[in-house]
Amino acid sequence: MSNSKNIHAVEGVDSNQHDVHVHDHESCCLSRRGFISGTVAAAVVGTLGGLGLPEMARAAGDDYDYLNANKEYAAKKALHKATYPGPKPIRPAKRMAVVACMDARLDVEDMLGVQTGDAHVIRNAGGVVTEDALRSLVISHHLLNTKEFILIHHTRCGMLAFTDDLLKAGLEGDSKAIELLSKATGRTFVSPNASATSPAEFDAFRGQIEAVDAPKDKLTNVERLHWDVRRGISRIMNHPWIPTKGSDAVTVRGFVYDVDTGLLEEVTYPGSMGSFG
Ligand SMILES: [Zn+2]
Repeated sequence: MSNSKNIHAVEGVDSNQHDVHVHDHESCCLSRRGFISGTVAAAVVGTLGGLGLPEMARAAGDDYDYLNANKEYAAKKALHKATYPGPKPIRPAKRMAVVACMDARLDVEDMLGVQTGDAHVIRNAGGVVTEDALRSLVISHHLLNTKEFILIHHTRCGMLAFTDDLLKAGLEGDSKAIELLSKATGRTFVSPNASATSPAEFDAFRGQIEAVDAPKDKLTNVERLHWDVRRGISRIMNHPWIPTKGSDAVTVRGFVYDVDTGLLEEVTYPGSMGSFG
């Protein structure tokens, strides 16, 4: 779909006139291109209208200072309330979407001081902006009104400790790779001895690999983390379906979370992206 078609569809949803004319127009427009049946298009528009999507800008949470909340978290102050809060709107109240590593030492809601209903949290190995993360971010912004994307990598990340080729070789039964992976992780690597086409990539971080859980080192691993955060920001900023200018613009910021202090450190952008290693 081209940008103009996207804008057209959003305007239809956003016009605050979810009447027969809008439904017919959307149904006609979308079905003519063969994307969706008229009945389904009308149902989609009607459902979105029921969510009250027309007002795009909301004051609540727009100026939320999550970095100050993070300092309080690092100082051992509990901000996130863990109990069921009762019914909440579908749209994240603080209009934030976070992409963070799945590492067990990261509690995203706690470290940012956000509550249930405040933010989307997308997690995977590394907090990498993958195709699937982009899918979630596009939906998060265009359908659910988030306007700030926050990328969180962290010190001592396991993604610093291997390469895609090494892991693939180990999974496929290469004896040298099996030995290296066992040594790096301290866990006996049991190879499936099989090839597979999916996942196509593991997205291990570029640069010289190191032992799993190696401490923070500004000259080596922190720089590698910064490289990957910047690549993620770049993927988002250059994506044609994510607006970074104009009234519907999304803000993108990247951080490295220090698992030894609980603090977030912002990554400058633009900057060095690093090389293959
Ligand atoms: Zn990690």
